[in-house]
Amino acid sequence: MLRQFLRFYRPHLRLALIAFGCAALSGVLELGFPMAVRAFIDHLLPQQDMGIIGLAVAVLLAIYLVNAGLMAVVTYWGHVLGIAIETELRRNAFDQLMRLSFRFYDNQKTGHLVGRVTKNLEDIGEVAHHGPEDLLVAVLTFLGAFALMLLVSPALALLTAAIVPLVAWVVAHYGGRMTQNWQAQFGRVGAFNARIEEAVGGIRVVKAFANEAHERQLFAADNAQYQRTKLEAYRIMAVSMTLNYLGMRLVQLVVMLAGAGFIVAGSLSIGDFVAFLLLVNVFYRPLEKINAVIETYPRGLAGFRSYLDLMATQPDIADAPDATAAPPLRGAVRFEGVTFGYTPDRPVLRDLELEVAPGQTVALVGPSGAGKTTICSLLPRFYEVQAGRITIDGIDIRSMTLASLRGQIGLVQQDVFLFAGSIRQNIAYGRLGASEEDIRDAARRARLDALIADLPEGLDTVIGERGVKLSGGQKQRLAIARIFLMNPPILILDEATSALDTETERAIQQALAELARGRTTLVIAHRLATIRDADRILVVTEQGIAEQGSHAELLAADGPYRRLHAAQFAAAAE
Ligand code: ADP
Ligand code: MG
Repeated sequence: MLRQFLRFYRPHLRLALIAFGCAALSGVLELGFPMAVRAFIDHLLPQQDMGIIGLAVAVLLAIYLVNAGLMAVVTYWGHVLGIAIETELRRNAFDQLMRLSFRFYDNQKTGHLVGRVTKNLEDIGEVAHHGPEDLLVAVLTFLGAFALMLLVSPALALLTAAIVPLVAWVVAHYGGRMTQNWQAQFGRVGAFNARIEEAVGGIRVVKAFANEAHERQLFAADNAQYQRTKLEAYRIMAVSMTLNYLGMRLVQLVVMLAGAGFIVAGSLSIGDFVAFLLLVNVFYRPLEKINAVIETYPRGLAGFRSYLDLMATQPDIADAPDATAAPPLRGAVRFEGVTFGYTPDRPVLRDLELEVAPGQTVALVGPSGAGKTTICSLLPRFYEVQAGRITIDGIDIRSMTLASLRGQIGLVQQDVFLFAGSIRQNIAYGRLGASEEDIRDAARRARLDALIADLPEGLDTVIGERGVKLSGGQKQRLAIARIFLMNPPILILDEATSALDTETERAIQQALAELARGRTTLVIAHRLATIRDADRILVVTEQGIAEQGSHAELLAADGPYRRLHAAQFAAAAE
């Protein structure tokens, strides 16, 4: 894992060198101060010459100025480095989210994923910067201070070193526990992010069922779990910091006592004594950073681990290495012996054969759960077939790049997802960068022009998150406008109007008929009246395609279609 982390420094080697070099230099300069004090007390003071003393102070001033400059460089450029790494990790994580396929998202909660790109990466920048810097400075000052302490008084130095095993044990023991704790915390944060996502995203359902109290309870439970996990972290920190502090101060007191004894015995000068106490403080400084070692670093590590996890997930659908961009397609669609299941052991489609000529409309009807949507999801390769193949114009869709395939298939579903933004932005999603004229034309063809003319802000009207400010019919028209703008040769209409009332459906049907003209169209419809004019109708059941033919042929055949038809007519008549 460390090697993987170090890779991120590669583009910033110069920056890293400057930041860490300045940090090291500044650490070394800090060592000079105790030695200067020793010389000051033992050699300069006794001379009682204010001129020399003034000169010494001027030298110290110069050193401090240099050190101040070094620290400013470390603080700013070190963080430039850290933030650059953090930004890159976050960009990679988001890119990965965009790359991953439906199958991954089928098993994820949005809130968890959001956490992995935000909260989990929060401390990486700090760690990327302070980690190596602290380590370098710690090692330098630690060893440097110890060497000087040995020089000043070997006996006291060895006494002071007694603290090291204690600190090492605290770091090893509590640092490990903190890493685990951070991982647990990320899990908890993910859980309650997911909870908020769902409760807020589904606020209309929550309120419609008056289930606010239930949601509050669920959230409170997650929140309390997070609290417990977090409190455990602070317990660990409290204990380890106290142990560390007490250990250091006790050793310091012993050193004072012993040092005083040496002075009385005449084997240590006052200057040595003061310098030694100052050195002990420099020596301790890295040890006092222990809370960074057991708080920030484990947090960064845990975040990096979750990042690596995410990045290691292979998208199960990606461009084949030898994939080429599909040419403009005519839209001859063929399913050849296609077998598919969301889990391999439960096939939804078995050995499916299906052929649609360019420009033809084929309707899929049949009971819910039969696999109609599944058939349509395979064409844009949202999922991969297990056996058989799908071709368009005779080309296997797996040999096309995903972008060139999906860019030629327009999809209108029952649930329209709209982005928070204006009508214009949402239509333009069909072809980014489309001209004003094309957007207006698409809106007109989707029969949105009357609505737009009615709105004071027209195309720039903001439609709220997921388009909450629009009616079902208006959302559907917007989705259709998007496809007009996209102008694909192949079209999938999956229950596009099933959620609408008959009146609205009839109005939208005209726009859909215009959209389907000249395009290969797969249409799934619940109301049979809407697909009567399809070139061919397929009745899909869990056993496969039960029958197919034109509306007239199927009615004459007196099979499942005729029964479905009769049932709907009877219902409509009532
Ligand atoms: P239809 O569109 O005909 O109503 P679907 O194609 O949506 O049917 O579903 C066919 C079967 O596949 C159903 O049993 C359904 O539960 C299952 N299914 C649909 N989508 C998924 C999915 N993302 N993951 C797992 N199973 C799914
Ligand atoms: Mg369906």
